[in-house]
Amino acid sequence: MVTRIGLFGGTFDPIHIGHLRSALEVAEQLGLDELRLIPGARPPHRNAPQVSAQQRLEMVRLAVEGVEYLRVDDIEFRRERPSYTIETLEALRRDMGPHVQLLLMLGWDAFCGLPGWHRWTELLDHCHILVLQRPDADSEPPQALCDLIAARTQSDPQALSGPAGQITYIWQTPLAVSATQIRGLLAAGKSVRFLVPDAVMNYIETHGLYRATT
Ligand code: ATP
Repeated sequence: MVTRIGLFGGTFDPIHIGHLRSALEVAEQLGLDELRLIPGARPPHRNAPQVSAQQRLEMVRLAVEGVEYLRVDDIEFRRERPSYTIETLEALRRDMGPHVQLLLMLGWDAFCGLPGWHRWTELLDHCHILVLQRPDADSEPPQALCDLIAARTQSDPQALSGPAGQITYIWQTPLAVSATQIRGLLAAGKSVRFLVPDAVMNYIETHGLYRATT
């Protein structure tokens, strides 16, 4: 049996039930051996997050504690460079060898932005891409991506074969939750209970994160 590892990168600022439910459902649907959440230490595509990288990592740790299949991988915290996904994939491939099936999960919005990523055309040399539906996303894929979709799509996620190279789509429970919404609620002094795990909510409260600064 081939080993199947899911990889789910993100800023996780903070991690929320949209990430967690998607991760768990993908792990179960595809029979993954494990699914690694990979927080970006220095995400190249966004403004500096409001809380420290260590705090975002700690919240991901708290969120997956004791959850079957879900793990945290702090690989991007061990590099003194921007967190480029291609470099993370190269490092994981070196560690795990050529045969392991690597499945990179991307929400639809992240997938549509792929042509802006560093060395994006090489990603499929190292992994398959699983695109998650995202109910609050309405972007259209750019032409360069449409060409790749036409060439590499495997419509049945169960039929992905080989260690890398295909794109497929996953329909998980739609949860229109975003970290932006959660930061907004907290800045307005509102509760985020049930949008994030209790352990994450308690951490946010204890450390006074995402409060309005004025
Ligand atoms: P922000 O609102 O700050 O942009 P976010 O909620 O989109 O944050 P990220 O950490 O940027 O969270 O996202 C990490 C990955 O999770 C991306 O691939 C994104 O598309 C996906 N994702 C985020 N929220 C959801 C959701 N509710 N359902 C499915 N996928 C999601």
